[in-house]
Amino acid sequence: MAQKGLLMCVCQGTCPSFQQMNIFDVGNAIRRENLVDYVAVHPQLCSTDGDKFLTTLLKGDMTDKLFIAACDPNMQVKMFRDALEAAGFDKNNIRGVDIRNMNTEQAVDAITKMVTAE
Ligand code: SF4
Repeated sequence: MAQKGLLMCVCQGTCPSFQQMNIFDVGNAIRRENLVDYVAVHPQLCSTDGDKFLTTLLKGDMTDKLFIAACDPNMQVKMFRDALEAAGFDKNNIRGVDIRNMNTEQAVDAITKMVTAE
């Protein structure tokens, strides 16, 4: 069955842009509302192993839409292009939102808006 997923990335947890939120509380809030079928945090999606993770996750037809909460969505599209191509995943089925410099509540709101706009 095709599913919707939410991936969150926080620059290894060391970037100041992500220090005002509790990323686990953010993911829990989205889970509790059943807004997506799965939620995961990756420490550095734009790294080589992040690419491998994305390709592995998106191969096959388990996920039909992937929401990514991390840095600038325009940067995300460029950084994840190779991984998506390797997985055969249509980039039009990715949605991104920038949650940098937000607190927990703001990040939950931003992600909720992105997911419910679909
Ligand atoms: S994908 Fe964005 S948020 Fe994640 S490690 Fe790379 S630059 Fe940071």
